[in-house]
Amino acid sequence: METTNSQHELEMTPAYQRAVGKLVDREVIHCASGLITDAARNEQSEYSDELQRISGGYEQQCPECNGTGLETDPDTQVQKDEPCNECDEGEVLVEVFEHWIISPWLAQRLCERGELVAKVWDFWVWGRQCTGQAILLDSVVCDIYNAMGATWHLEKS
Ligand SMILES: [Zn+2]
Repeated sequence: METTNSQHELEMTPAYQRAVGKLVDREVIHCASGLITDAARNEQSEYSDELQRISGGYEQQCPECNGTGLETDPDTQVQKDEPCNECDEGEVLVEVFEHWIISPWLAQRLCERGELVAKVWDFWVWGRQCTGQAILLDSVVCDIYNAMGATWHLEKS
């Protein structure tokens, strides 16, 4: 078993990134950003609720103030008469940048980690709250790889 430290160091290695890349190649099927964005505009769609949910927006209760919109003193847990810095009147903006069609296997694991995932029509879609980097670098994806106890990254390349 590796310690947390060595695990973290492994994340920096090309072998680790290649291994997580293999997982991504296998479980992430195709980008569907345009398709899902278009479909989400159709309020008549039988999947309208699911499509809205994985498209983000101001919709989640702020975890810092539990949706009250007010600052809480971290020491006394007493609510102050000041606005919470983490949100807009108790709601946080959930920004979704991309949609990806993924395998049911990956959908389950992303869902367990609080990611936005939905089954629409007959496939699973992930609303990715990250962009501008390879999927294999997303911390949630690395976490899924680590949880598999996989050792691909230890193989000789
Ligand atoms: Zn808040």
